[in-house]
Amino acid sequence: MNSIPYGRQDISDTDIAAVIETLKSDFLTQGPKIQEFEEAFARYIGVEYAVAVSNGTAALHLCALALGVNNQSKVITTPITFAASANCIKYCGGEVTLVDIDPETGLIDVDKARKVLEQADEGEYKGIIPVDFAGLAVNLEEVRKLADEYKLWIIEDACHAPGGYFVDGSGEKQFCGNGNYADLAIFSFHPVKHIATGEGGMITTNDPELYEKLLLLRTHGITKDADLLKENHGGWYYEMQELGYNYRLSDMQAALGITQLKRAKSSLEKRRAIALRYDKAFDGTNILPLKGDAGHAYHLYVIQGADRKGLYEYLRDNKIFAQVHYIPLHLMPFYQDQGYKIGDFPIAEAYYKKCLSLPMYPTLTEEEQDFVIEKVKGFYSL
Ligand SMILES: *Cc1c(COP(=O)(O)O)cnc(C)c1O
Repeated sequence: MNSIPYGRQDISDTDIAAVIETLKSDFLTQGPKIQEFEEAFARYIGVEYAVAVSNGTAALHLCALALGVNNQSKVITTPITFAASANCIKYCGGEVTLVDIDPETGLIDVDKARKVLEQADEGEYKGIIPVDFAGLAVNLEEVRKLADEYKLWIIEDACHAPGGYFVDGSGEKQFCGNGNYADLAIFSFHPVKHIATGEGGMITTNDPELYEKLLLLRTHGITKDADLLKENHGGWYYEMQELGYNYRLSDMQAALGITQLKRAKSSLEKRRAIALRYDKAFDGTNILPLKGDAGHAYHLYVIQGADRKGLYEYLRDNKIFAQVHYIPLHLMPFYQDQGYKIGDFPIAEAYYKKCLSLPMYPTLTEEEQDFVIEKVKGFYSL
C-alpha cells in the first residue's frame, strides 16, 4: 500500500494541456483566462461577482481592506480555523475576538457570539468571520440576523466548502459563498482544497461597490478605466487611487482552475460518498465523526476519539498521514501575546485534544479507505 495523505490534489491530462496551452499564449499573468475562471466560478457558486486573487490569505486581506478594517475595528471569528481567518484583521491593525465553538459541529457558536456583542459597547464590533469548517456550511441566515442587529459585516471563510450549502428557513438551499447573506466570501485553491491551482484564491460577492473596490485593491490600487480616472493624459495614462497590492492570479493558474472547476461537482460527490462509507464504518463505535449533513462539502473528515496522539502515530506507522485541524488559534504564541491564554475556550480545547482528520480526497480508492478504516478500528481493538 502506498502512503495515504489526508488530502491530495487531482491533476488530469486535460489540466496539464490547459496550462501548456496558456504557456504558448500571449498572457502569463492576468489575461483572458482570469475572467473566464471568475465567470465560471461565479456560475458554480451562484453569485454575481467573483475576483480571482493569488491565494486565500490575500483574498481575506483584500476583503478586510475593502470593508475598511483599521485600528478601530474589532472583529469576531472562531479559534478552530486556519490562522489566516484571523490574521487578515491583524494585517489591517484591527483586533480579533475569538468565540468558542459548538461541540457538535465544530463551527462558531452563534449564541456565544451574541453574548459577546450584548456585553460590548454600541458599535464596538465591526464584523464577523464565520468559517465553514471542514466543509459544513455555517447557517448564515442566523448569522445575518445577528449581524443586522449589531450592524456587522460578514466575511464568510468558505475555503473548505465550494459546493457546500445549508438549508434556510424557507427550505431553500443556500450555497456557500453565494452572497445572499454574507457581504463577501473567500475561497482557496491550495492543493489540498477542492480546486487546485497551486496557489490561488477567489472572493465572491453580490455587492457591485465592494466588487469594484476589490478589483482596484488587487492591482496596486491602479486603474486605467476611463470612467474612474480623475484626469486623462492619453493612452498610457493610469492612476493609483488607493494603496493596493499585487494579489493577482496568473493566467496559467486560472487555466488550471477552469479545467479543475469542471470536475468540482463530480469530485464533491466522491467526497460525500467517502464520508458516507466512513460514517457507516464508525457507526455505533466510540469513534465520533463531527456532525455531517447533505450539504457538507467534506474538505475534511474529522473524527474524535481517545488517545488521539497514539492513533496519529499508529496511523503514521502504517503510512497513513492523518492530520490535526486545527490547533486552536488562542494557543498560538502570537495570539497569546494578544492576551489569550489556555482555558479561554474550553470547547475548542477539548475538541483539539481528540480531533483527527482522516484521508479525504476524490481519488482515495475504496481499497485505501478500507485500509484506513481497518487501522483506525484496529487501534481501538474494534
Ligand atoms: C486554506 C485556508 C485559508 C488560506 O488559504 P491560502 O490559499 O492557503 O492562503 C484560509 N482559511 C481557511 C479556513 C483555509 O482552510
